[in-house]
Amino acid sequence: MTLSISPDDIRQQSIRTVPQSPVSDEEMQQAVRTLLLGLGEDPDREGLLDTPKRVVKALKFLTSGYHQSLDELLNGAIFHEDADEMVLVRDIDLFSSCEHHILPILGRAHVAYIPNGKVIGLSKIARICEMYGRRLQVQERLTQQIAGALQGLLQPQGVAVVVEATHMCMVMRGVQKPGSWTVTSSMQGVFADDARTRQEFMNLIRHSPSFH
Ligand SMILES: [Zn+2]
Repeated sequence: MTLSISPDDIRQQSIRTVPQSPVSDEEMQQAVRTLLLGLGEDPDREGLLDTPKRVVKALKFLTSGYHQSLDELLNGAIFHEDADEMVLVRDIDLFSSCEHHILPILGRAHVAYIPNGKVIGLSKIARICEMYGRRLQVQERLTQQIAGALQGLLQPQGVAVVVEATHMCMVMRGVQKPGSWTVTSSMQGVFADDARTRQEFMNLIRHSPSFH
């Protein structure tokens, strides 16, 4: 599916972070302990003694993208440049967590833009994917946020983002469909308006070895 982005979305997502949690680590650990009890486990057995602490630490890391902003992530890595050819970073590893089950979403992102006077450090494109990945997500929004960030930062001639991912909540439970991939895309500017530019991008990301 192709998603559209309003200027409001872009403005919001560049500043949206979650305020410091009013819940203490101890309370979070207690909640994990309760979960273990609910699962019929004995949270006091040796193997599980430190599990609440570990789970809280892991979840905080996996959602640490809430506490990052585009500004600090970029650290000034936007440059004025006359280039107007497509810039493509493909096969960016993407790790996220679905907001419905807090289970992993694993996949790849392919991100392209056509500059309009400004370019961004290439590694920053991967860092932007990482920042939005480290939040509770649905794949559609993740795709849109990556595109919206580049659109807002660079005002390029166009942005194209394709995310291909597999959702552990589908693979390990529910419909149990290992090997199913969900593909989402967001096409902005010339990628939305010009079929040839879009096709060029799609040809460039067409697989090769990204999935085995
Ligand atoms: Zn899910």
